[in-house]
Amino acid sequence: MTLDLKEISKDYYFLVNRPDMLERAKELGYEHPILVNGELDEDDIRYLQGSGKAVLFYFYDADYDIEELPGLPASHWIEKVVKQISQADISRRFVAAQCSDIRAENDQDELAIKTAEDNIRYFPTVKETDKYMADKGLIWSTDYENLCGNCREYLEEGEKYCSRCGTKRGEGKFAPYRNEMYAVYGPVMVGFYSCKHCGHKWTKSRLGGTYARYCPECGSSEICKEKEDLDEAWKRTMRD
Ligand SMILES: [Zn+2]
Ligand SMILES: [Zn+2]
Repeated sequence: MTLDLKEISKDYYFLVNRPDMLERAKELGYEHPILVNGELDEDDIRYLQGSGKAVLFYFYDADYDIEELPGLPASHWIEKVVKQISQADISRRFVAAQCSDIRAENDQDELAIKTAEDNIRYFPTVKETDKYMADKGLIWSTDYENLCGNCREYLEEGEKYCSRCGTKRGEGKFAPYRNEMYAVYGPVMVGFYSCKHCGHKWTKSRLGGTYARYCPECGSSEICKEKEDLDEAWKRTMRD
């Protein structure tokens, strides 16, 4: 094991690549931040896989010169570590964040981080990092305005329940999901639905077909797909 891994209560491991970043992370109250200073071994990967946690590797490599790590440019092994973790079958997603990513996303402006000192000065707080991870859908959160708290389905304005899994808007916790890519083929289909319980009628559109199972108004599963049709926009594209 090359990493100082242990059980944590947070939903993500916070990895950094420099001793000064580790110190700063401790000062700011991060739970058990971990220093990565070379490639990971199989035990590290297995531990991360088994933890069910997300992994955030927050690194800075701009002026990390060869002297600090003899014989191996930082960018070389950072790239390797990123590859190692992202290719491992980790149940929650992995994020490799460059120095300014987290602050820039939260502050909505570009920060000019050019030196290691800047990096420490702009080091994200725990709260900012939590928000960053939540916004990326990587940790449990029900702070989302427009996503189902259980299955991440996009919720239309006014929908009170998720039409995919029936979870009430604003409730539920995001379920862990695998580091996979999904591909959906096919034209945009529009499904027309109605609810036998409350009479609500709605449409859903999705590439390749729709799959509503619950009423977005009352949450009942007694729904009926009236018909499914090609999206008008797609029809127009095909005619052109
Ligand atoms: Zn859902
Ligand atoms: Zn209904």
